[in-house]
Amino acid sequence: MLVVEDEKKLGELLGRGLREEGYAADVADRGEAALWMAQAVDYDAIVLDVMLPGVDGFDVCRRLRKDGVWTPVLMLTARDAIEDRVSGLDTGADDYLTKPFSFDELLARLRALTRRAPAERPAVLEVGALRLDPAAHRAWRGDRELDLSAKEFALLEVFMRRAGVALTRTQLLDGAWDLAFESRSNVVDVYVRYLRQKIDRPFGTDSIETVRGVGYRLRKE
Ligand code: CA
Repeated sequence: MLVVEDEKKLGELLGRGLREEGYAADVADRGEAALWMAQAVDYDAIVLDVMLPGVDGFDVCRRLRKDGVWTPVLMLTARDAIEDRVSGLDTGADDYLTKPFSFDELLARLRALTRRAPAERPAVLEVGALRLDPAAHRAWRGDRELDLSAKEFALLEVFMRRAGVALTRTQLLDGAWDLAFESRSNVVDVYVRYLRQKIDRPFGTDSIETVRGVGYRLRKE
């Protein structure tokens, strides 16, 4: 997720809240930075405040669409500013939320937006006996529920969305961690090990394969 909000406290709060929910979240405090980041990273959704210094939220959305970036945008508008909502949707935003809002509602809107995204996003992911429900934040192998940390869950989701494809460590990092995450060395290997201990070892399966010289692949089964 990309959060664009110039109010430092609110931006940090949203970023932290999303990470606690298992999302990778970057926070930008300027429209200019948001434009650059949204072109560089294929975000699942963008939470975009309308009132930004410099390039405002409307401009950001308009320019992204003009440049062919179709990432779902949830706009944050001022209370009762009906013209803001209309202009927001006119610039290509997918939904809006009026400030102040509850974090639960933000999450619900984001889930709806990412399900609707142009890429195929089924509500529940299934790969072989593995099942993962992003909205409920639960995962199973067969009938047994898996007890995963937020980061393990995020990593498994990345694998399941690209089952059968060899993913590089960088792709896994981009999908499950934030840009701000600096230590790009062995963190993926460590978490793949944790994940294997939870989704494979107790079941005598071997679904995450090491692809020598590339990274890892979730077997399609
Ligand atoms: Ca603002």
